[in-house]
Amino acid sequence: MDSCLFCRIIAGEIPSRKVYEDDSVYAFYDINPQAPVHVLLIPKKHIARIENLEPSDADVMGHLMVAARKVGDLLGLSNGYRIVFNNGADGGQEVEHIHLHLLGGLKMGWPPYQLSAPSSN
Ligand code: 5GP
Ligand code: ZN
Repeated sequence: MDSCLFCRIIAGEIPSRKVYEDDSVYAFYDINPQAPVHVLLIPKKHIARIENLEPSDADVMGHLMVAARKVGDLLGLSNGYRIVFNNGADGGQEVEHIHLHLLGGLKMGWPPYQLSAPSSN
């Protein structure tokens, strides 16, 4: 899709720091890292959101997970890492091209959000 930021990164029209690439996946460092290691993995096929997935996308999404494992290995994250898909408005998705956040290099807590305190009045 011409106007999509991540499609433009895949096409090389916008520079990125590549970590890994194969036939169906591209992985690059996030421009605004939220952990010592923060990599984005994207399918080369433009799919906006989880809700847009078709049964025929199972292979590419499975491949994305296997690529995440390869990136974890490549970057030496032997102590683990977190994988996040922000999806839709409530999920905090800003770029409408499915992407897997791979975050590592620190010990993380759970849950990753705070419920707001109930109002006292
Ligand atoms: P979302 O909030 O949609 O789950 O995540 C989008 C991610 O893309 C954010 O973490 C943001 O920092 C990253 N991002 C946005 N624009 C660019 C860019 O031009 N280059 C790179 N490498 N990352 C970007
Ligand atoms: Zn796209």
